[in-house]
Amino acid sequence: MLPELEKMLILQDKDQHLRKLRLEVKKLPAEEERAKAKLAGDTEALRAAKEATQLNEVAMKNLQLQIQTRRDTIVRLKIQQFETRKNEEYQALGHEVERYTAEVARLEDDELVLMEKGEGLKATQEAAAAALKATETLVQDELARLVERRTNIAAQTAEFEGLRTGLAAKLVPELLEQYDRIFKNRGDAAVVPLRHGVCGGCHMKVTAGCVATAKVGKILNNCPNCGRYVYLDES
Ligand SMILES: [Zn+2]
Repeated sequence: MLPELEKMLILQDKDQHLRKLRLEVKKLPAEEERAKAKLAGDTEALRAAKEATQLNEVAMKNLQLQIQTRRDTIVRLKIQQFETRKNEEYQALGHEVERYTAEVARLEDDELVLMEKGEGLKATQEAAAAALKATETLVQDELARLVERRTNIAAQTAEFEGLRTGLAAKLVPELLEQYDRIFKNRGDAAVVPLRHGVCGGCHMKVTAGCVATAKVGKILNNCPNCGRYVYLDES
């Protein structure tokens, strides 16, 4: 293989690694957002559960107040009943007492329903709190892992950039410029193998002349379709 091709292949190996690292870094913010979004969902679930419990408690207090008001009325009516000397009024007050007593019984039934509902809401709230706690631990671990990954990638990038500078200096500037241009344009590779007459970059069949030149292996040779440098690989 031509020494220039070999040098470009070694350089390309570092460039491909750097490209992978840069793509990985770009994905990190989205991964961080995804981790935080999990927390937002569980936080909202707990907030909603707490709100439902509070609303239920307010409704219960309201019922208790209504019950107490009626009980006070019943006491007042019974005193009036005790004090009256008129039989008709006595009877009328007795009916009122009955009416309020029935209302108290109905309200107490409603209160019981809300108490049972409250038990369920309490269980839901406890489950939501436990789920949030578990998610918090998971998310913290995930975010710590992402921070570590970012640090690792930065260190690797610095290392590979250093290696790359040294390797790039071994190519004549004109060739390096060509190589850089092709790598940048194609995104994945500037030097690719030619196998069975097919370019390893664009996967198109190249001309017979191109194959012949690669076989001789005396000069640098580009794929006529994509422009990448090709070298014969018959393995
Ligand atoms: Zn090609």
